[in-house]
Amino acid sequence: MNFILGILLVLCGIFNITYVAKVNFNSGKITHSIVVKTSIWKISGYCQCVKCTYPYNDGITASGKKVKVGMVANNWLPFGTKVFIKGLGEFTVEDRGSKKYFGTKEEKRQCIDVYMDSHKKAKEFGVKFLKVRIK
Ligand SMILES: [Zn+2]
Repeated sequence: MNFILGILLVLCGIFNITYVAKVNFNSGKITHSIVVKTSIWKISGYCQCVKCTYPYNDGITASGKKVKVGMVANNWLPFGTKVFIKGLGEFTVEDRGSKKYFGTKEEKRQCIDVYMDSHKKAKEFGVKFLKVRIK
């Protein structure tokens, strides 16, 4: 059993997944789930200009905060969720994007829009595919 568990842990490390087994102590039932910890997400940049956020270009995030560098938009991660984007650093989910590009709570697209302080920066960033870890 320990040997099998060892192999499982190594496989989880390689594929960046976490194996979660929950035991219900009343029924003795075990439920399993696999959580993908790190994977490749589509990353884009936005600023608070009319082009990027119309008609929500008031500088206030969907969570009600004044938008600033360090905040990102995603349509299904709860506000306050910390995400680590490889090569960019740690960010907090405080905003939402268009359903057309970023999906919904039901349709969980692996997309993150990173707030930047100028349209030039956002435009230059374009779209990148980077590793993301949900903290
Ligand atoms: Zn812009």
